Amino acid sequence: MKDLEHYFEELNLKRIPEIYKKEAKIAAEKKLDYTEYLSGLIEKEYQGMIERSVNQRIRRAGFPCIKTIEGYDFTHQPQLNEKQIRNLNTLEYLDNAINIIFVGPPGIGKSHLSIGLGIKACERRKRVQFYTAQELVDDLAKAKLMGYLGRELSKLGRIDLLVLDELGYMDMTKDSANLFFQLVSKRYERGSIILNTNRPFEEWGSLFKDNIVATAILDRLLHHSHVFYFTGKSYRLKKHESKNIGKDNY
Ligand code: ADP
Ligand code: MG
Repeated sequence: MKDLEHYFEELNLKRIPEIYKKEAKIAAEKKLDYTEYLSGLIEKEYQGMIERSVNQRIRRAGFPCIKTIEGYDFTHQPQLNEKQIRNLNTLEYLDNAINIIFVGPPGIGKSHLSIGLGIKACERRKRVQFYTAQELVDDLAKAKLMGYLGRELSKLGRIDLLVLDELGYMDMTKDSANLFFQLVSKRYERGSIILNTNRPFEEWGSLFKDNIVATAILDRLLHHSHVFYFTGKSYRLKKHESKNIGKDNY
């Protein structure tokens, strides 16, 4: 029989090697039987595996920073339906390939909430990818140029949740509008997109430089979707103002 360390390594066990001796002592003290001791070890190994997989998914998703739904202050967006947003935590929308669209001015937490939802999906061990709309369009344009657009679109079609941030700030061409349309078609009724935009839907014709393509994109995107409208001043500015008000009092 080889020594235990050898089997730990071959079986790629991570946590059991660190804890089995200590757990054996505890088991002896508590007079646990062999099965209880073994179940305890296996359970801790399993929890460790889940934690590593969630962390890996969060790292691979490419979020620009970490934000949580719990950390969002809904009192700053009173018109937003808090309950409806919190319900999204169940991830039911993902199972039904429903899109979520956040529309509103900058600084009011569209990215924050979409990252929070993305992280929730990672915690349920879904595959998530975060892109700015610019990055996505650049990616697709490069794939087209290099002759692997079909493969790239299939890859983006298979991700469980695609988060697209900041649609509206970049300069679209008719070509990029068409690539964007192909992506939306690929995911239509197959997988959810969370999309953030500062541009109301009426302006999408001018955003995409083509009314027909914009209508086709909106048609697919909105067919199964939850749309949330944000209003008001940037949270950053509000925070800044409230700091200054505080200073005047001293
Ligand atoms: P947007 O994507 O709408 O431009 P962000 O999500 O980038 O806005 O928000 C800007 C900053 O303000 C972020 O640091 C975000 O966490 C914070 N923020 C915005 N709104 C809220 C809010 N209601 N509660 C807590 N933090 C917020
Ligand atoms: Mg943003």
